[in-house]
Amino acid sequence: MKRFILFGAPGSGKGTMGELIQRDFGYAKISTGDILRAEIERGSADGLRARSFMEDGGLVPDELVIELVRQRLERGDLDGGYVMDGYPRTLVQAEALTAVPSESERAIFLEVSEAEAIRRLQARLTCRECGAIYHRENKPPRQAGVCDVCGGAVEPRADDAAAAVRRRFRVYARRTLPVIRYYEHRQVLARVDGNGTAASVYERIRELIS
Ligand SMILES: [Zn+2]
Repeated sequence: MKRFILFGAPGSGKGTMGELIQRDFGYAKISTGDILRAEIERGSADGLRARSFMEDGGLVPDELVIELVRQRLERGDLDGGYVMDGYPRTLVQAEALTAVPSESERAIFLEVSEAEAIRRLQARLTCRECGAIYHRENKPPRQAGVCDVCGGAVEPRADDAAAAVRRRFRVYARRTLPVIRYYEHRQVLARVDGNGTAASVYERIRELIS
């Protein structure tokens, strides 16, 4: 089983790239955001615990995230390989992932300028109900302001505003640097230029993966 790990600041296009890899290579996409949302929706004990941390504006503790990812990896639908999105975020999580055997491992760090991230996130619209993501020009909802999926309200997210993006960008860089160094040290890290169109960035990643 091959393991790919995607890193990238907010606005790096990490989520989009994960979806394209999933589509073209058939690898499962494992996103901690999706896992946490599903657990919260299911109302599981882990989900409720995770929600209490998120509501306080804090981070979900390592042991809880690690356990949820472990359960996901054990589900057994990962034959060809999988792409991790949003995990690992800390050194403790990275070490826990290393303990899970894999045929090969590649960490991909999508590097994007702060100006580009701000430009991208300001074009982004999000459904308040289901979290579906739209783009003002490239992928607007069929009816302005209304989600195609669930009919909820589609609007810019407050934390996609320029000042908030600058803050998120710096927090990301500070928190993630030790994890990037960890993979660099293991000699499995590839840095990919994340500036430019989605098609051109994906082409760089595709070459790396195939
Ligand atoms: Zn929706």
